[in-house]
This record gives sequence, C-alpha cells and structure tokens, in this order.
Amino acid sequence: MVRHSSRIELSQSSLKSNFNFIRKKVGPGVRISSVVKANAYGHGIHEFVPMAEKCGVEHFSVASAFEAEEVLEACSSDSSIMIMGILYDQDIQWAIENGIEFFVFNYDRLPLVLEKAKAADKKAKVHIEVETGANRTGMNAREVPKALSFLKKNARYIEFEGLCTHFGGAESLSNKFKIDSQHRKFKEFIKLCKGRGMRPNHYHIACSAAALAYPETTYDMVRIGVAQYGFWPSPDIFYMHLQSTGNSANSTSLKRIFTWKTDVMDIRDVDEGEFIGYGTAFQAIRDMKVAVLPLGYSNGYPRAQSNRGHVLIHGKKAPITGLINMNLFMVDVSHIKEVKVGDEAVLVGRQKNNTINVSSFTDVTRLLNNEMLSRLPAAIPRKAVR
Ligand SMILES: *Cc1c(COP(=O)(O)O)cnc(C)c1O
Repeated sequence: MVRHSSRIELSQSSLKSNFNFIRKKVGPGVRISSVVKANAYGHGIHEFVPMAEKCGVEHFSVASAFEAEEVLEACSSDSSIMIMGILYDQDIQWAIENGIEFFVFNYDRLPLVLEKAKAADKKAKVHIEVETGANRTGMNAREVPKALSFLKKNARYIEFEGLCTHFGGAESLSNKFKIDSQHRKFKEFIKLCKGRGMRPNHYHIACSAAALAYPETTYDMVRIGVAQYGFWPSPDIFYMHLQSTGNSANSTSLKRIFTWKTDVMDIRDVDEGEFIGYGTAFQAIRDMKVAVLPLGYSNGYPRAQSNRGHVLIHGKKAPITGLINMNLFMVDVSHIKEVKVGDEAVLVGRQKNNTINVSSFTDVTRLLNNEMLSRLPAAIPRKAVR
C-alpha cells in the first residue's frame, strides 16, 4: 500500500477520558449511544467504532442505512446500531435481518415494517420519533395514538424499542424556551404511552448539549455526538459547565482526540520580490525559505486558509504563503532552521508546546467544527494511537 498525502491519528486515552466525563455527567444507568454519522464526524467509522467499544460503548447511531452498514462491518457482534434518518423501503428487511434499530416517523411506515418483519421472520426494533417542535422528522400527535395501537396489536413482530425526539438547538441558551416546550410535549407523549399500558425499552431525547447541560432530559439513554470527540457543543454549554463546577473544569474536561498530520514534501529558497504559487497572492518581502506540503483543498484543507492559517513544524508556527492549491500548499519556514524534507507537519492538533484547534481554524474559514470535520475525505487514513 502506498502512502497517502496526510493521516489522522485518534487518541484512545483522550476518548476514554471523554466517555468518563460524559458518564459522570449523565450518571449511572443511562445508556450512551455513540453518534457516528458522517463517518464519525470525520474521525472515521472503521477506526472510531472499535475505539468506542474499548470504552464500554455498545450502541451506535447513524443517519442512514448506508452508514449502518459501515458500522456493522466495524463493530463487535454485541453492539447495537440505530438508524435515525434515511432507510429506504427496499432496505427495511435488510435492517430487520441484521437486528438494526430504526426511527419510524410516519404512521404509514408501520404496516410495511410489519410485512418485512414477517418476511424476515424476525422482530423489527422500532423507535417512534415524535414531533415536539423541531419540525424536521417526527410523528405528529394525531398519528401517535394510531401507531401505539398498531405496535400493541403487532407486538409479536415489532419491538417498541424507543420513544424519542430531537431538540432543535439545545446548544444555544437563547433557545431554552423552545427546548423547554419540546420537553413538555415529549412528556405528554410519555403519558400517552403510560395511559395505554405501553412502555418502550428506552426514552431518549438528549444530544450532547442537552446531556451536558440539562440533566432532566437524559432519561435512560442519550445520543452523544460531538462531545465524545472532545468538543463542547457551544460556548453556552461550556460556560454552564464552568458555572456548575465553580470554574474548576480543567482536569476532567473534554479532550480533542483528533490530530491531522502530513510531511514536508520539498523545501526551496525564494528570493525577495518573487511570487509564491499561483498568481500574485503572496510576494516575498525578503529572502525566504518555503516548505511545500502535499495536500490541498481536494484533501479537505479549506481554501479559505490561503495566506491566513498556519501549520506546526518542529513545534513552531509556519504561516501559509499564497493560495491553497488543489493538492499542494506552501508555508514559510524561514525561522525554522532545522527543517528538512520528510519532517512532520501538524495541520490540526498538538506538536510540542503548540496546538492548532479545529475551532481556531474554523474562525477563519467560517465553517462549523462539525462541517469541517465531517467533510474530511474518507480516503485519508485514520489510526488509533495511545
Ligand atoms: C446528530 C444527532 C445527534 C447528536 O448530536 P450532537 O450534538 O453531536 O451530540 C443526536 N440525535 C440526532 C437525532 C442527531 O441527528
């Protein structure tokens, strides 16, 4: 196998510490479903899933049947998988046969699920997602009673695995009124179930932000995405955490698990007055030494970093000179005397005493952390490290 132009390392010890932190927050007896949609937020499903399993996670959530198939390849036979989003009619039977749980948010789906469960001769594991105010997916209040009757009548073929909903914006304190209203509506649905003597195996509504900031929303299961990767969902949620702990957050706080690296491909001297790379975006105002790096915007390194960002080489900041090309970019290494071809360059993460955070990066590019991470090409090799 030839070497790729960059690589991503994932820290097992930081991940462990994140899950310990989250477990402490949500308390014992609350099942953590690890949300690994979008290639585990860019971290890589195939590498991340076994790492999470080593931390005791045994439930994974994805956005599509396609992603569920990837998790199925990567996970141990004891783990469960839940599809929160798109599952085409033609794949329902596949999901049932593989024991994969899925959201149902339209009443019309249920007869089809029943038919497929009979065909597979296996119970379908269904989470009824209810509409509480996000108006994205979710079964409306008119359909839910009908759905409950259907589940009751066909309990032999359909397992009532969960009752759930999703907050539209729990990250932001300014949405608190909306979150509260969604939670009130969810409680009405719980009452409805109880009134009919029905109890799903799990109730779940909390994403990372809700799980970290609103303990009353955790029930017996939470769906944790961004926090497990070591990112606070928002400054609001981080400040609420600081307040609740009297600012002593440091030792137990979330840790980034992700480092993105490449290598110096070439080094050259550039005379004062010369232009570097395409066009006239960067002109050397003194004699310079420049390192060439073997990746560009086609490899997930945002073009908006042109002339603005930096990388780390020998622990020192090397500013980007000129435009990010499709497969190359250049950095100023005039001040890094020891640099040579083949040296490691850190694009995101820590090197010696310096760190480049995804967030500092995304300040410049105006991408969301999640957006930048989840768009990193699947072709970049990911590797678990200690
Ligand atoms: C993405 C997603 C989550 C996880 O959200 P985070 O904020 O990353 O924790 C939870 N539930 C649903 C339905 C989602 O789509």
